[in-house]
Amino acid sequence: MREVLLVRFGEVHLKGANRPYFLRMLTENVRHSVKDLGADVWLSDSRIYVADVPDIMEAAERVKRVFGVHSVSPAVETDKDIDAIGAVCVSMMQGKNGTFKVFARRSDKSFPMDSNAIAAEMGHRVLEACPGLTVDVHTPEIKLNVEIRDRAYICCEDIPAVGGMPIGTGGRASLLLSGGIDSPVAGYSIMRRGVKISAIHFESPPYTGERAKEKVMTLAKMLGAFQGGMQVCVVPFTKIQLEIHAKCPDELGTVLMRRFMMRIAERVAKANFKAQALITGENLAQVASQTMDALCCTDMVVEGMPVFRPLIGYDKLDIIREAEKIGTYETSILPYEDCCTVFTPRHPDTRPKPEALVKAEAKLDYEALLAEAVENAVIVNV
Ligand code: ATP
Ligand code: MG
Repeated sequence: MREVLLVRFGEVHLKGANRPYFLRMLTENVRHSVKDLGADVWLSDSRIYVADVPDIMEAAERVKRVFGVHSVSPAVETDKDIDAIGAVCVSMMQGKNGTFKVFARRSDKSFPMDSNAIAAEMGHRVLEACPGLTVDVHTPEIKLNVEIRDRAYICCEDIPAVGGMPIGTGGRASLLLSGGIDSPVAGYSIMRRGVKISAIHFESPPYTGERAKEKVMTLAKMLGAFQGGMQVCVVPFTKIQLEIHAKCPDELGTVLMRRFMMRIAERVAKANFKAQALITGENLAQVASQTMDALCCTDMVVEGMPVFRPLIGYDKLDIIREAEKIGTYETSILPYEDCCTVFTPRHPDTRPKPEALVKAEAKLDYEALLAEAVENAVIVNV
C-alpha cells in the first residue's frame, strides 16, 4: 500500500493520431514539475501516476499547475484484493460526516467482481464503519472512487487543475511583457494552449528604474513557473523615445513608439527565440493607443508573424480577476514607471492615419535606431 497522485488529463484525449505525442509531452512536463522531489512518474491506462514523494499534497500543488492536467487526486494504491480495498476505503472515510456515494470502475476485467458489485460492497463496509455517513446516490457530498487497474486505486478528493494543453505542443511565441496587469495575463492564456513563451521587455533608463525592471523579472518568473523557466530579452528603448519626442508630432508619439516596439519584437523573437508569433496584452478601447485605428497602425508593421492579442475583447475587471487567479496581480500593481508612461502625449491621436505615421518616421533614422536597439538587447534567464 502506498500513496500516489492520480493525474487526469482532459482535452488531450481528443487529439486523435497525435495523442501519443501529446501524452508523452504531458508526462514529461509532469515529471519535470516534481523532479526534485525524487518522484516516480509513469503513464498507464489513460492516467498519469506520481508516487514515492515525501509529501503527496506538495506534489498535488505542483502538478495541478502543469498545463494539460485537468485534475489531480491524492489516492491510495493497494493490492487487487477486496479486503485490502475495503480497509483503505474505510480508513479514508473514517471520521467524515455527510453523504457519500461509491463510484467503482474496473478496467481489469479479470477482477472477480464487476463495478456494481464493488460499489455495493464498499458502500456497505463504509456505512458499517462510519456512523457519520449516509448514502446519497444523486448528490453525494463525498465521492469515493475505486478503480481496479493494474493495481487498485482509491481516492475521494478531486482537485481541479489548470487544464489547457501541454507546454511545447503548441510552438513558441514571444510576449511583450510590461510591468502592467494585462501582459502577464495575455502570456498565461497563450501558454495555456501549449505554447512555450519567452518575454521581451522595453526599458527606458534613467526614466524607468531598477525596481521597475525587477518587477518585470518577478512577473516573468511567475509565468516561467508554469513552463520550467523563461528567457527575457531586455531592450534599451530610451534613445528611440527621445528621438520620437524630439522630431515627431507629439500626438502620434505613443503609436510611433508602439510601432517601434513591434518591429523590434519581431526581430528579437525570430533571431533569439525562434518564435512564430508575438503576444501583447492589448485590449480594444482601453487607452488611446488601443483604438481600432491605432491597433491597425501598430499591427501593419509586423509582417512575418501573427500578433496574438488574447485580451482584445475582455473587460478590465475580467482581466484583473484572471491576474488574481494566476497570482500576478499584486506584483503588477506595484507603482513603478513603465516606458509607455514616460512620454505620454497630452492629446494622443486616437484615429492615427498610416500615412501620417510613415511621414513622421521618415524624420528618423529608423533603420539604424532599430538595429541599435536589437544589437544592445540583453537576454536574461529567470
Ligand atoms: P499592461 O497592463 O500589460 O502594461 P497596458 O494596458 O498598460 O498593458 P499599454 O501600455 O498600451 O497597455 O501596452 C499594451 C501592450 O504593449 C502591453 O500589454 C504589452 O504587451 C506591450 N508593452 C507595453 N509596454 C511594454 C514594455 N515596456 N515592454 C514590453 N512590452 C510592453
Ligand atoms: Mg502598460
